[in-house]
Amino acid sequence: MGLLVVGSIALDSVETPFGRADDALGGSAVFFGAAGALLHPVQMVGVVGRDYPMAKLQRLAERGIDLRGVTVCDGESFRWAGRYGFDLSTRDTLETRLGVFANFRPAIPEEFRDARYVFLGNIDPELQLEVLEQVHQPALVAFDTMNYWIQGKRTVLLRLLERIDVLMVNDSELRELSGDWHIHRAARWVLARGPKYVVVKKGEHGAVLVASSGVFYVPAFPLDDIFDPTGAGDAFAGGFMGHIARTGGLSPANLRLAMVYGSAMGSFAVERFSIQRFDEITPADVAERVRAYRDLVHFDLDADARDARG
Ligand code: AMP
Repeated sequence: MGLLVVGSIALDSVETPFGRADDALGGSAVFFGAAGALLHPVQMVGVVGRDYPMAKLQRLAERGIDLRGVTVCDGESFRWAGRYGFDLSTRDTLETRLGVFANFRPAIPEEFRDARYVFLGNIDPELQLEVLEQVHQPALVAFDTMNYWIQGKRTVLLRLLERIDVLMVNDSELRELSGDWHIHRAARWVLARGPKYVVVKKGEHGAVLVASSGVFYVPAFPLDDIFDPTGAGDAFAGGFMGHIARTGGLSPANLRLAMVYGSAMGSFAVERFSIQRFDEITPADVAERVRAYRDLVHFDLDADARDARG
């Protein structure tokens, strides 16, 4: 049951009120892979330049990420730099240097084309469509995008919507795509254009799953410390898709559980810079956090009646 991710493989330089990291491993495919591989092996497709720290990338292979789809090209790796404000909810992009990513054309290795679960990380939607042309019969395709593509390649994005199952975006992207400020109405607008599910990521306010069968909310995990929010959305996607790939279940109940795994992985991502936290944790830590979520949202509908009875 292959789990394929196509996305950016970056060197991130990030400044938060609590410190900074320079040229750290980042990019949508890397965050997705680091989180997803804790649940299920991941097949990664992307491009790096000759300057990429290959030894660090190889450590991803030791965690269950198949790197046969990663091409090394002459030139510089994709670099992204950002700075977060005091409350960590606002971010300025300081630099985006495309390097070899500018000419990236995803070539899915033959061995990956039977992938059942596919995550199209935030790249040019024309390239996301090219990926779909190369995979045979996926059971579930999820995709992410950003305002830049919503503004610049809207027609292609609308074509993509007809072919994918899960749209995973943050609230501002969903508003911009639909032209509607109201999240639930906006999600229904998307559902009418093809996808079966919309996952809206709302940062510190958690995430929402909207399907024709109903709506499910999962909170952000109440952490003692948040260090660096970069990549939380891609780690969320890794948890969500990793859980589905591991279990193979697409029932509404299992999708809700996938939301909790996604949220758990997002919470691990923000506890350290880059993908460091995923080096420290094991599947048992993930399972424990998922259990903690149940305690967080569980309530007893009959508590008042029981109290009244004494
Ligand atoms: P997020 O915090 O979910 O927005 O994801 C941040 C990650 O996206 C960082 O690791 C960046 O390297 C990567 N990234 C930033 N800008 C782009 C872009 N234009 N295309 C692809 N990946 C990007």
